[in-house]
Amino acid sequence: MTIIARKSFSTLPPSWQQSLAQGFHHPEELLRALGIPPEHPELRYEDKLFPMRVPHSFAQRMKKGDPGDPLLNQVLPKKIEYNASVGFTTDPVGDSLAMPAPGLLHKYHGRVLLVATGACAIHCRYCFRKHFPYSSAKPNAQDWRQTLDYIASDTSIKEVILSGGDPLTLSDARLASLIKKLEKIGHLERLRIHTRLPIVLPERIDQNLIDWLGGTRFATIIVIHANHPNEIDQEVIDGLERLMTARVTLLNQSVLLKDINDHVEILATLSEKLFEAGVLPYYLHQLDKVQGAAHFEVSDEEASRIHQQLMAKLPGYLVPRLVREQAGQAYKTPIT
Ligand SMILES: *Cc1c(COP(=O)(O)O)cnc(C)c1O
Ligand code: SF4
Repeated sequence: MTIIARKSFSTLPPSWQQSLAQGFHHPEELLRALGIPPEHPELRYEDKLFPMRVPHSFAQRMKKGDPGDPLLNQVLPKKIEYNASVGFTTDPVGDSLAMPAPGLLHKYHGRVLLVATGACAIHCRYCFRKHFPYSSAKPNAQDWRQTLDYIASDTSIKEVILSGGDPLTLSDARLASLIKKLEKIGHLERLRIHTRLPIVLPERIDQNLIDWLGGTRFATIIVIHANHPNEIDQEVIDGLERLMTARVTLLNQSVLLKDINDHVEILATLSEKLFEAGVLPYYLHQLDKVQGAAHFEVSDEEASRIHQQLMAKLPGYLVPRLVREQAGQAYKTPIT
């Protein structure tokens, strides 16, 4: 028997930045990987404004050979997106009216939402931020000052929400430095992060992230975004467990999507799987009427019927609130 000397090459897994840069960027490539014929008249192969983007880890949870897969259909660009639909606009939630500083939205009492970046690890076809003017709204160093000054000047603000895009696509160094600045504002008590990365790129939850999260004086809340139980696998569960070591309250928001999760059994399983992973359901959003997303729409009547079925099936703490965001309202409007 010959013994081959082992070369000492690194067996470290790729960093999250590498995973973020890789992923699938072309529908053909993703469909081939799933063993689905890549030519289809309904597919849209190019979209300069909002190209396909899917991390490998998320794609791995799609079912091979199934063009109807609910994860695949959240990310696959289709020609139907070109169809103009009445009432579907590029700014459905009135964001451009509520911006007191670049990238800062102050719509609700006591909390502000900071558009920390326009970048996402995944491009969800139904996304309401698809047409958001990130390049003009994205704060530069000078604007951070403006944003921080605004927050400092209004003592009614207790909570800062980092949103985007996906704020966790920013480096830990940038995030930690922003949090340090926010911590100096005495009336702030809570930090909330809206992110889909724990679901779509669980390797993002690394020790650096846990270090600054665990070290902040703020009470921290992370609102993840899962729409379907198949999005939660062991890798995701392990990542959420790491987050819990930093004493983070974990919540989930979903969007109600036609032919993806518009069924009581799917939503009930999602809630139960989330709970097992330490996450409580928070919101079930009615789709924002953004141009190109009309084919995902579920009517309010149907949404309300599904929600009632969910209430009849699960304990109250596993039923997310069914809401719609309406421009000019003081809170997300419940649908009954
Ligand atoms: C959704 C949203 C919030 C958060 O609302 P909660 O009901 O506190 O979850 C805050 N600001 C803006 C601009 C929002 O769109
Ligand atoms: S902002 Fe959220 S919903 Fe929109 S594309 Fe990014 S991850 Fe998806």
